[in-house]
Amino acid sequence: MTHSTSNSQNTALQQVDHFIDGKTVQSSGGTYIDTVNPMTGQVTVRVASGTVDDVDLAVAAAKRAKRDWRHFSNVERGRLMLALASAIRANKDRLAELERAETGKPLALALAEVDGSANYFEFYGSLVYLPTGEVLDVAPAQHVYTKREPFGVVGVITPWNLPMNQAARAIAPALVAGNVIVAKPSEITSQTTVELARLARDVGFPNGVINVVLGTGPVVGEAIVRHNDIRKIAFTGSVAVGRAIGHIAADRIIPLTLELGGKSANIVFEDADLDFAATEAVKGFTLNAGQVCSAGTRLLVQRSVYQTFLEKVAKAAESVVPGQNLGPIITSAQFERVQSYFKIAEEDGANVLTGGEIAKVKDQENGFYIKPTIYKDVDNSMRIAQEEIFGPVLVAIPFDTEAEAVEITNDSPYGLIGSVWTRDISRAMRVADEIEAGQIFINIWNTMSVQTPFGGYKHSGYGREKGIEAIHHYSHSKTVTIKI
Ligand code: NAD
Repeated sequence: MTHSTSNSQNTALQQVDHFIDGKTVQSSGGTYIDTVNPMTGQVTVRVASGTVDDVDLAVAAAKRAKRDWRHFSNVERGRLMLALASAIRANKDRLAELERAETGKPLALALAEVDGSANYFEFYGSLVYLPTGEVLDVAPAQHVYTKREPFGVVGVITPWNLPMNQAARAIAPALVAGNVIVAKPSEITSQTTVELARLARDVGFPNGVINVVLGTGPVVGEAIVRHNDIRKIAFTGSVAVGRAIGHIAADRIIPLTLELGGKSANIVFEDADLDFAATEAVKGFTLNAGQVCSAGTRLLVQRSVYQTFLEKVAKAAESVVPGQNLGPIITSAQFERVQSYFKIAEEDGANVLTGGEIAKVKDQENGFYIKPTIYKDVDNSMRIAQEEIFGPVLVAIPFDTEAEAVEITNDSPYGLIGSVWTRDISRAMRVADEIEAGQIFINIWNTMSVQTPFGGYKHSGYGREKGIEAIHHYSHSKTVTIKI
């Protein structure tokens, strides 16, 4: 088990409570969830296990703050967003360590995530001068204009793999659009979201604009989705939970952004820069130990260079070392799950090129480490090619023609990312058009930009985060018609 519930007063553990209406608030239930540091297997943090009453308290605070926040001028709102970005950067070492205590990710990666989180507030904070409506020439004696209005209280529910990034990704555009927030991070990784809210209060955001309720999905998460005063949900997480939330949102007729899983393909043609593509392919499936929804976990290689390319990829994978530049799997349940796919791969007859087992790291013998793993000669119908594993596991699939590469890529329930490696730009653009996915990369692997809209096709979800487009998912338009 990664976490268990307790009401003990173990003072050696870091205790994390809700952040509601600008202050720390203990759960009305008085119980806590122990979370484990995946580098050591030791419990180091206990987080409040929230209740439906705690959600009510947070929503009431958000509702009180709504009027104030909405009537801030755009310029004031933008300045606060920029101040928050600076505060995040000023606290980057502390925030990175909080993130590491729960996720075990390498320091450089944790620091990059904190920096990326600041980027969201900087980017959306600088968009306050954008026009938000238009004047429409409908008829001679009429003046018609449109404006965008916030939904009100937005519920933000996030997973454990990139907790600060995912919280900031949804909270920043929601705030700049004039909404107020009730956020629920994963119970496994709560600390940085609470700190984000605290820093916002410290730089001058009114109390109640960002509230964080901690606890489990079935209790706190579901209470947020069901709450009558929550008018929009931004959910990042698994397909199963996304679907369950989708049913509730449909009943309530509220908008929902779903950022779900992926099984993204890298398509490598014979004329590609194979050395660079190999390095990037390894980055694509080992970043954050593969616990990234946009990880490139299927590698499609043209048969003429298949052997050569796989040798390069296997060699590049050797430079990714568990405990050094490869962090652990974040939860023990997920650690078990990744290992279960090793058995499934064996049963399906897949051949291991490298890895396929756990790694023992010196002084962290109980850590949840997995060796970078590559399966070769995989058939796309195998479970390891169809299902999201969420670990550092890559499946290599040979292809002969462009059409076949596209067909294999799209033969997936998911559609988050696709990437094409070729020096033939016409082919690259043709393939980019054919791939059913929200983001396509040509001769590059980079999913970190704040400016580019991000989201999925098919089971990878709907709605978009990031970019100017996200603001439209956190506001609705109103048309006003005046007879002159
Ligand atoms: P999860 O779906 O189990 O949990 C996500 C969040 O939902 C957590 O805060 C959890 O407590 C909450 N939750 C669980 N049950 C709930 C319920 N019934 N009602 C309301 N909330 C509930 O996902 P996870 O295991 O934390 O994260 C891994 C998954 O997230 C992977 O599938 C991954 O692909 C996906 N993910 C997607 C993106 C993206 O942007 N597309 C990014 C990161 C992770």
